[in-house]
Amino acid sequence: MRKFKTFTVPREGEKISFKNKKLLVPDYPVIPYIEGDGIGTDIMPAAQKVLNAAVEKSYGPGRKLVWVEIFAGEKAFKKYGEWIPKETYEAIRFFMVSLKGPLTTPIGGGYRSLNVTLRQILDLYACVRPVRYFEGVPAPVKSPQDVNLVIFRENTEDVYAGLEWKKGTPEAKKLISFLNKTLKARVRPDSGVGIKPISAFATKRLVRKALQYALDNNRKTVTLIHKGNIMKFTEGAFRDWGYEVAKKEFGKLTVLEEELRGAEVPPGKIVVNDRIADSIFQQILIRPKEYDVLACPNLVGDFLSDAAAAQVGGLGMAPGGNIGEGTALFEATHGTAPKYAGQNKVNPGSLILSGAMLLEYLGWKEAAGLIYAGLEKALRQKTVTYDLERQMSGAQLVSTSGFADRIVAHLNESRLPQPEAVS
Ligand code: NAP
Repeated sequence: MRKFKTFTVPREGEKISFKNKKLLVPDYPVIPYIEGDGIGTDIMPAAQKVLNAAVEKSYGPGRKLVWVEIFAGEKAFKKYGEWIPKETYEAIRFFMVSLKGPLTTPIGGGYRSLNVTLRQILDLYACVRPVRYFEGVPAPVKSPQDVNLVIFRENTEDVYAGLEWKKGTPEAKKLISFLNKTLKARVRPDSGVGIKPISAFATKRLVRKALQYALDNNRKTVTLIHKGNIMKFTEGAFRDWGYEVAKKEFGKLTVLEEELRGAEVPPGKIVVNDRIADSIFQQILIRPKEYDVLACPNLVGDFLSDAAAAQVGGLGMAPGGNIGEGTALFEATHGTAPKYAGQNKVNPGSLILSGAMLLEYLGWKEAAGLIYAGLEKALRQKTVTYDLERQMSGAQLVSTSGFADRIVAHLNESRLPQPEAVS
């Protein structure tokens, strides 16, 4: 096993590997984790406790997650004088599957988002966010149980590519001059400017992943989301390249909505369609049952995943994973909520559910199933953290660690789900 300077790998830990596009998971995989800033110190231990309990109940001593702490954010800066030390990238790459708490990002200046940097440098090109309802969670819509979406957001390009220049800088002036003189555009000289690259390569691998996910998980539809009526050569091209992948690479397994013309979907086939970005926001509110897997460019995917999460009760319960070719970093989708840091108060649900996604990614579906069962029971019994308690009548307030303890107690009471019952 390779040696690292910033952490020691326990002897029992083994490395996950990736061969022929398949993850090979040992019984005692090393799982690096980044605790995170702010409430990271509260939610990470809570999530690890739940994950460990679910694995132990499912497999006894036969399997175990071997956690090693790696560093990013404020803790890394204090210890090593760097926001993300080189070894952190290397460990995520080397061990393949990791868990991450939230990291602080300053707005409008300072360093670039550490979250975006991690995703881009590690080429974790698909941000995967399942959005489903858990009974008992207060939600603002009438039928939150109809929402069951998985959003695949492109993670490496679009306006997040970092190609942005401040008003008045030599770069901004040069670019504006090029645009106005050479391309005969009309950009005001006092503009800040940004570039929105969307490539065939990045679009196709994202849509390919979404289609493969839909096939592996018996999903019915993959919808390409775009604002192609306005941005024809970026967002419009995203749609066209998405259809190209569906037709050329998944042609026998998919049918296009426009070819169906209202007819029944042939058995075993996935419907591929597209929706304009502004319309999908109202579609998922009004007709959520019609949507299933959504493949999106970066910016609209960011907005849409938070909006969809709000429909089922908010970010406190929304999990996420950033996935590349094998390498995966699962993370809470909310931020560091600094005003609650260290108070053992906030909801660890998002990180716990991201941990359940991690277990599913390892193929440990029984353990993930137990987490869902334990969480559902805690919610049904209304023993919840402050964010949910303030919206539920007759609820009992518990702390972050208290919520994790309740989930552990409930999952220990649960029967092991059959693998085929877990999706
Ligand atoms: P935030 O940290 O998500 O917090 C906003 C509000 O959301 C909190 O005040 C709280 O609402 C609620 N909330 C968030 N997490 C919660 C939890 N686990 N349980 C219960 N309630 C929770 O957003 P922010 O204040 O805009 O951002 C703070 C920092 O986090 C920024 O530096 C931002 O860049 C960063 N951030 C990081 C990530 C990431 O690491 N992936 C993502 C988003 C933001 P109430 O006040 O109503 O109780």
